Amino acid sequence: MEVPDVVPVAPAKRGRGRPRKTVVIDLDPPDVVAVPKRPPGRPRKKKPPASPIEAYPSSYGDECNIVVPPPPKIEVYGKNGRIIDITHEMRSDLPIFGSPEGVGQLLRLSVSMKNGSLYNISELKLITHTGTHVDAPGHFYDHCFDAGFDVNSLDLDLLNGPVLLVDVPRNMNITAEAMESLNIPRGVRRVIFRTLNTDRLLMYKNQFDTSFVGFTQDGAQWLKDHTDIKMVGIDYLSVASWDDNVSAHLVFLEGRDIIIVEGLKLDDIDAGSYSSVHCLPLRLVGAEGSSHKYYSMTMKHA
Ligand SMILES: [Zn+2]
Repeated sequence: MEVPDVVPVAPAKRGRGRPRKTVVIDLDPPDVVAVPKRPPGRPRKKKPPASPIEAYPSSYGDECNIVVPPPPKIEVYGKNGRIIDITHEMRSDLPIFGSPEGVGQLLRLSVSMKNGSLYNISELKLITHTGTHVDAPGHFYDHCFDAGFDVNSLDLDLLNGPVLLVDVPRNMNITAEAMESLNIPRGVRRVIFRTLNTDRLLMYKNQFDTSFVGFTQDGAQWLKDHTDIKMVGIDYLSVASWDDNVSAHLVFLEGRDIIIVEGLKLDDIDAGSYSSVHCLPLRLVGAEGSSHKYYSMTMKHA
């Protein structure tokens, strides 16, 4: 394609084809300077009129070699920070449960423009419990796995709606005693538990850390017996503490009516009630877990 706004500069050496040109593309902000490449002998196209629509000229083919500034890194979107992304970036240095080495390479550019292709295509290789993700009943109950209680069977109504973010006492796992102290009212169906794991930045450490905090078996049982919570969110890779990892998961997933969301990013978000949270797992048929996008509206209830 042609670029919009062309400013001629001094011609290249004599006898070496057409003069090179510096192309200035008016971006706001900043301006971008690019130098077009033209294969020798290739016919020149007619220059189109400059157009403000051409804000992001493509480098399709080899018409030009454009330097584009990287996009801004955004965690909060909309007017007054209306939407907060509480998903961790899918990075190769994310920790993964039980491993000292982290997630490793997630993406491979299998079709590359730098290798002559007309487009780029990446492949994704992913453990389904990478980063921010959900657990389905089939994660800990094999008969549920066989019966199809996969991430595709999870109730989207439970995963989307008003949510309460609570700060858990920092000196303990989420025991029955800790749960009782939180005084979560009946009727609350979605709760995100922020723990010492957030303070310790565990999701930013490559190596899996077994000293994370999470639910004990009696804490999970207390939640089940004394609250209406059906979506349980937490800020590290397991909802259950290291010592009770299996037993607490079994309590949560036994009834197939509680959904676990793990690995949430809760660094810069206030505790309290939020008008809605949105969790949208991939429809992975047969998978007991799925990474997903997860974000929260910041509009608080009165
Ligand atoms: Zn999981």
